[in-house]
Amino acid sequence: MPRAEGATPALAQWFTAKAAHPDALVFFRMGDFFEMFFGDAETASVALDIALSFRGEHRGQPVPMCGVPVHAWEAYLARLIRQGYRVAVCDQMETPEQAKKRKAPTIRREVLRVVTPATVTEDGLLDAARPAWLLALAEAEGGLGAAWVDVSTGGFETMALARDDLAGLLARIEPVEAVAPPDLAALPALAQRLPGRIAERAPPRDPGRLLRDAFEVATLDGFGRFAAAELAAAALAVAYVRETQAGALPRLDPPRPQAGAAGTLALDAATRRSLEILRDQRGGTEATLFAAVDRTLTAAGARELAGRLSAPLADAAAVAARHDAVDFLLGAEATRGALRATLKGAPDMARALARLAVDRFFPRDLAALASGFARAEAAAAAIADAPLPPPPAIAAAGAALRLDPGLPEEYARALNTEKVPARLEDGGVIAAGYDGELDALRRLRDGAREAIAALQLDLAQAWGVASLKIRHHQQFGFLAEMPAAAGQKLVQAPPVAAGQPHGPILRQTMANAMRFTCPALAELDRKVAEAGERAAVRERACIAHLKRLALEQGGAIAAAARALAELDLHAAAATLAAEGGWCRPEIAERPEFHIAAGRHPVVEAMQRRARGAAFVPNDCDLSPGRRLCLLTGPNMAGKSTWLRQNALMVVLAQSGLFVPAARARMGLVDRLFSRVGGGDDIAGGRSTFMVEMAETAAILNQATANSLVVLDEVGRGTATWDGLAIAWSVLEALHDRIRCRAIFASHFHELTALAGRLPELQLARMQVREWRGEVVFQHLVGPGASERSWGVHVARLAGVPRPVLKRAAEVLAALEARARAGGRDALAEELPLFAPRPPATPPSPLQAELEALDPDSLSPREAQEALYRLKALA
Ligand code: ADP
Repeated sequence: MPRAEGATPALAQWFTAKAAHPDALVFFRMGDFFEMFFGDAETASVALDIALSFRGEHRGQPVPMCGVPVHAWEAYLARLIRQGYRVAVCDQMETPEQAKKRKAPTIRREVLRVVTPATVTEDGLLDAARPAWLLALAEAEGGLGAAWVDVSTGGFETMALARDDLAGLLARIEPVEAVAPPDLAALPALAQRLPGRIAERAPPRDPGRLLRDAFEVATLDGFGRFAAAELAAAALAVAYVRETQAGALPRLDPPRPQAGAAGTLALDAATRRSLEILRDQRGGTEATLFAAVDRTLTAAGARELAGRLSAPLADAAAVAARHDAVDFLLGAEATRGALRATLKGAPDMARALARLAVDRFFPRDLAALASGFARAEAAAAAIADAPLPPPPAIAAAGAALRLDPGLPEEYARALNTEKVPARLEDGGVIAAGYDGELDALRRLRDGAREAIAALQLDLAQAWGVASLKIRHHQQFGFLAEMPAAAGQKLVQAPPVAAGQPHGPILRQTMANAMRFTCPALAELDRKVAEAGERAAVRERACIAHLKRLALEQGGAIAAAARALAELDLHAAAATLAAEGGWCRPEIAERPEFHIAAGRHPVVEAMQRRARGAAFVPNDCDLSPGRRLCLLTGPNMAGKSTWLRQNALMVVLAQSGLFVPAARARMGLVDRLFSRVGGGDDIAGGRSTFMVEMAETAAILNQATANSLVVLDEVGRGTATWDGLAIAWSVLEALHDRIRCRAIFASHFHELTALAGRLPELQLARMQVREWRGEVVFQHLVGPGASERSWGVHVARLAGVPRPVLKRAAEVLAALEARARAGGRDALAEELPLFAPRPPATPPSPLQAELEALDPDSLSPREAQEALYRLKALA
């Protein structure tokens, strides 16, 4: 960057702004444009595809420059933010006249805010259905802490976590931006996920104090228990948000510590991708679980749903509380109907409130609050009128909806809701009858207008010009306009003497018309302008009062907004269950898994939309004694659909929703692993097989007896024997060591030989019929193993040319004949798979001694003695 010396006064201001915000593009206000200079101009002109030009010189060189008009800046800003840039907005703080009066060389300008992906509040820059999390990371006392805030709603959560859990957290909250000290910013999990969107900042020195000050409390104990690193991360988040808002802190909820790994269902990034929870494998949003189950009516409800699906619970009581809420609204149809009628079209109160707090709001935000207050009242009434006492989750939401009644009343009285102006300065925000002084000033302003109409009649008569019209002109105010001929006459022979109230004074001569004023008109003009200005000032004061009222109760309003979102979600879940005949999953104490007539919510919804064949429901039973299911069947028979649908049951149930099945009963799952369909990591430069093995390794290392694993075609990416051997040993590990519930789909028919050897392994197959030489998929899961692979049939369906198919059938027949000749199952025989597993060797004396030790019960002295004993045995 060039040096600042020798800069013009305005450019010197630019250098100051740039020095304070080196990692942002500086939007520098110059009249009707925001301009960018030097390197910023070069970057922005490419990013925005606008012309790069030059303005003046600096140190003998032309200054690169580009600009965007102020009236359209939001659209340009949005494009930069989406591309991950940060923008420091350096605005004019005074008018040119004020600067002249101060005898300043240029207008005063200051950076009022730094716009970053996570600190925007404008609707145009936000996704209505998703939170915009800013993630802050910090370390303290040897632990890692995370805090995430959504400036657009005030949401604020924290968690203590291990470094290994960072990728999972990122996959769960999908932050749009992060802030962290340099060493954490460099962690690959973070750096790869948010390239260019990580601000490097050191955490504040005294996090506790910063947070106590920010929330104006003497102690943080009331918010929950935080680890030191959580506090450091939370303080870093607050400090960063403050930095971007030039010292003003947007309204934030108090931080809520989240249960770490224990309280939520662990879903790694590969599982989320495989199950297409919020995004499908191509990054779209259409064929996703979210899209298939979303019946919410408000943006806040949709955000709540997305949040729950991304972080299902692993706590039986918390899951049951959500199911109770859905169950209640499913039964209480009238209450649900009333709630949904109230929620339909409800505004986004949380985001409106956030805009009020940062003072970047519009009349529609005030109207949104007024409407939100009214709906909160109506929703509370609907709950109070319910035929049965509501369960705790609904009752708590109902209580949170009850705002101090003065607030809704005041808003209802104050706002002109019939016609909401676009901008505050357009006027007409405040309704007549709310404020006596405003009404009087408006009357004066409008009265003077009536007086002008009367004056027009007087002047027409006094000046003898019937066609005279009084019009308002931007520059000159009110003037009496008439045709040029009449005007000339008036100048030559004024009918009223100069100086008299009606004495004409010429102001403008145009080709066809002339414009006059007179002392009476000038006086009225002044009165109108003054009354208009005073009315505007008074209206602004009324608006400021309304804003203050809302912010004083910001916490209660945010809680009411959250309650509305939760009710929307529960009512939506009940609607979904009623529509599709979904059932309440029963949460069992033991690690059972029993689904009767389950369906895949996304495939079913898509088939219904396409009016195709009806989805075929299937059962699944992975209860103790039959925990493992080995599924075989041809391609296209519905294997991966069934695998995924059973995994989705867990996500839905533990998110607190009902499930698409006739009956479902399951023990809580602590970790869910799904490896189904396209795991290719082409961008990561790893082969399919490598990715598959890495993901299999992750499962074998992390799954517990309470996990559920669904695996498709493990070992498909390598040579047959390799693949079979790997699949075989993975199955054994799941069965013998991990002892979790699992479904394992494979085209290695040889694996079915394991059924006799692994007592808890059941065999299942996709049923297929042959009809006149064609394969017919029944999409039904039945017991046993698939006899054939039908690959050639599927190849025909896919349009492989006839001669190739014919040849394949011949080769297949020959191979099958050879296999038959070689024994029952030649391939499996050749592998050492049936060899008895090595007997467990008896433990050595050293091992036995070690096993017998209980370190927790030893005194230091006993421990030392034990060490000597062990040393002697070694
Ligand atoms: P596979 O994994 O065995 O190759 P898929 O699960 O991808 O098969 O299913 C192939 C297609 O069959 C799906 O796209 C879907 O349209 C259809 N399908 C799968 N399961 C069912 C079912 N239970 N009922 C109806 N159609 C199904």
